[in-house]
This record gives sequence, structure tokens and C-alpha cells, in this order.
Amino acid sequence: MARYDLILAGGTALDPKNGLDARADVGITDGKITSVEPELNPTSADDVIDVEGMWVMPGQIDTHAHVAGLSRNWDPALGYGMLARAGTTTVLDMGGTGPTLIDGIKRRGAGLNVAGQFALIPGLTIPTGKLSYRTMGSIVDNALRQGCLGVKILGGYHPFTPEDSADIIAACNERRAYVAFHLGTTDTGSQIDGVREIPKLVGRGRLHVCHVNSYCRGVVDDANDECDEALEILDSMSGQLNSEAYHAIQNGTSGRCDEDGQVMADVPRNCLALRGYEMSIEGMRQAITDGYGSVVAQKGGQVYYARGEEALKMFDDAKSNVGMSFPVNLSASAFRLTTAKNDADEFIVDAISTDGGSHPRNVAIQSAMALVGFNALTPLEMAEKLSWNAAKMLGLRNKGHFSEGADADVTVLDPERNQPEMSLVAGKLIMYKGQPVGSGGTLLVTREGRRTAAASGLPYQVTELSQSKLYEDFSG
Ligand SMILES: [Zn+2]
Repeated sequence: MARYDLILAGGTALDPKNGLDARADVGITDGKITSVEPELNPTSADDVIDVEGMWVMPGQIDTHAHVAGLSRNWDPALGYGMLARAGTTTVLDMGGTGPTLIDGIKRRGAGLNVAGQFALIPGLTIPTGKLSYRTMGSIVDNALRQGCLGVKILGGYHPFTPEDSADIIAACNERRAYVAFHLGTTDTGSQIDGVREIPKLVGRGRLHVCHVNSYCRGVVDDANDECDEALEILDSMSGQLNSEAYHAIQNGTSGRCDEDGQVMADVPRNCLALRGYEMSIEGMRQAITDGYGSVVAQKGGQVYYARGEEALKMFDDAKSNVGMSFPVNLSASAFRLTTAKNDADEFIVDAISTDGGSHPRNVAIQSAMALVGFNALTPLEMAEKLSWNAAKMLGLRNKGHFSEGADADVTVLDPERNQPEMSLVAGKLIMYKGQPVGSGGTLLVTREGRRTAAASGLPYQVTELSQSKLYEDFSG
């Protein structure tokens, strides 16, 4: 008779890959899924956890979060515990470096699987000025060797020219490196114009389009029209793009102003303009005073949004160099982008992300569950957008489903409370009743990052991006 280390007993298993939405026991051995059956013999397991009344889905994979960033006024590695609390089992960090990723996992890891994108920040992580195509290639090679899956272009903060942006994408494509783009170039910006630019920049290539909802805030046109246009462009390039949208109303941005008192980055400028504030340090101070802008702050191990006087003092003390947040995301845009399907009945935007981590807005699971309650998604579609599609985006063939031999990464949801209840990575609990109980983490690297991963001392898995949805049929 089969022996199990653990049985999750009596829940409703949601496995979109295998079309399973039924009461089932999930048997786990040696960190892998071994059986999913209507009933498994409880005496055949060392341990049984009763999950009666719960939804049992493949572990949630967050394809856009921040746990290894280069922020100074709070510790991004706090994001591991915050994500664990929110039910996440695998995270793709959207903008750090290999060393910051590894360092953060060691200090504050919460047992998650972790992959990272190398942030392209001129003057900080890469040289300033015009980069040759060859230099771009060596930057990408170096990112892979550091243990990142590829690079992140931060168009809303450090935009490149359209030509350079296209070249970076091409250099990544050539290597089958993962390339994620917060849209916007020196010609456009972090809004619908950035989306309009995708076909020209990508050509026949491949790209992960970050947080589609953030370009549909009504900065340029009516927000509904922006959603329609973004969906049309994404759908017209179906097969070439990975994409995600997040659901939090709060965004995450920077308050930084230059010596002349002008707000530096495109994103905060848009936020101020949306409510008629001046795009200057005085406009920013007024927005904080009025309660529109908040400052991301840390007290003890907690990251929170400071408001009003407290926030203004932090902003002044740091001479504007603080992380900030504005309530600029539209729930109607998030809803439309999350639920829209194409003629083939596939979701146009692949996944629901948080764009959270160390930003206190890890609401992906709760909001997806609410969409099920609203009949906007079926439970299987929810699991598809929170896990299965995300696994395909990253080529994580052993994740996102409950086939025999799959990694036993599981998120258990309580539909009564609309909350994640517990989660497991490789068959071990990393969160139980809202409390993180894991530590460390498993690095997900490409073949080029294997040496760094081994030297880090952390457990690691090698992912084949050539098997990801992004590159599986790419021959360029
Ligand atoms: Zn982000």
C-alpha cells in the first residue's frame, strides 16, 4: 500500500491543468504530489491535515512582486513573510540583483521559491550612457550568472530610448532570458502610449508586460477605452507576450525630486497630474498633506503606508527620496483586464499578480476569491490565473498543477472567510492560519545561474525558460 508523508484531507481540489474541481484527498510524499483521489486511507500517512470545506489549489505563483529591490527606507526582504502570510508559495521579484535576492532570502526568507529579475538602473546596476548591443548582451549574461532569470526594464523610472529598449528585448530573446518591462520609453511613458509602443519594440520577439492595469488609469484617455486598447494590442500579439495585472488600488512609486524641485520619475508625475497637483516638490508635499500621497514606511518588522503629518516629516527628512503610494489604480480596469478573454476563450492577461511583496498590498488571492463570489471567475479560472498560467509563464513545469510527481506546493483557501488558510512548499507548511512558519527559500535559476545558486548554499531548482510559454515556440 502507498505510504504518504502527509494527506490534505477532505478539501475541494482545484487543478485547472487536469480539469479537476472536486472533493479530493491530496497525498504527498518526499515533497511531491503522489495521489489525488476522492478518498485516501488516513492510516497510510504519517500526518493528516483536515481541510474540509477548504479550496486546495496548486501553490500561488506571484509573477510580479518586490522582495529584493534597492529601496533604502524599508527592507524589501520583509516581503517574504508578507507574501507567505498572503498565501504565496513562489515569487518572481521584479527588480533587484542576484546578490540582493540571495541576501534577502538568507536574512528573512519565509520558505518560498524565489526567482528574480535584474533591475536595469543606469548609474547603479549598469553603466550610464549609450550601451552597445554587445554590452547589453553581457549585462544579460551577467544577470543570468548572478542567479536572475533575466532583466527588468524600468520604463516608468529609468526609461531607455525606443531603440535601446528594443535592443535589450532582443538581447534577452537571443539568450532565452526572461525579459520584463514596466512600459515606457523616452518617447512615451508609463501609460497607454507605452502599450501602443509594444508591437514596434518587440517585433517578432517575446516580452513580459508588467502590471497592465497601471497603464489604464485614465491618464491619457478614458480608462475604459485604455483597457479596450490594451487588450486589443495584447491579444493581437498573443503567443509573444506574458502579462499580469494586479488588483490593489494603491500603487508603488518614488517621491524623488531633483535639485530644481521637479518630480523626477514619470509614474509619480502622472499620479500628481491625475488630481491636478503640480509636478514639483511643493505639489508632492501638498498631495501628502491632503492625504492623497502616502509614504511607504517600516516600523519594526512591519511595512505600512504613513499618511498626513507623519508622512510629510519622512518626506522632508529624506529630502523627497522615499517610496510612495497613491490610490490611482481603478478597480474597474483591474476587473476588465483580469476577466477579459479572446476568441479562443483564453485569458488575454495571463495572471493576477500583487506587485506587492514588501509593498503592503498582497491582495491577489483575496480579490480573486471575491471575483469567484461575484461569478466573474470560476474557481478553476481563479486557480488558473493565480497558479497554472503563472507556472507556464516561467516554464515551471512541476508547479501549478497536481499531476503525480508535481512539486507539492499547495495553497489552501477558506472560502467562508475569503482568506488563504495555509500553504505548503515541497510538502512542508510555510504558512498556517495566517502565520508564516517557514524560513530560507529555494532559488529558481537558469542553467547559467547554477554555479551561483550552488555557492549560495541555498537549495535551488533550475528552470528551463525554453519550456516557458514565452519561448516554447520561439525560433528567432
Ligand atoms: Zn512592480
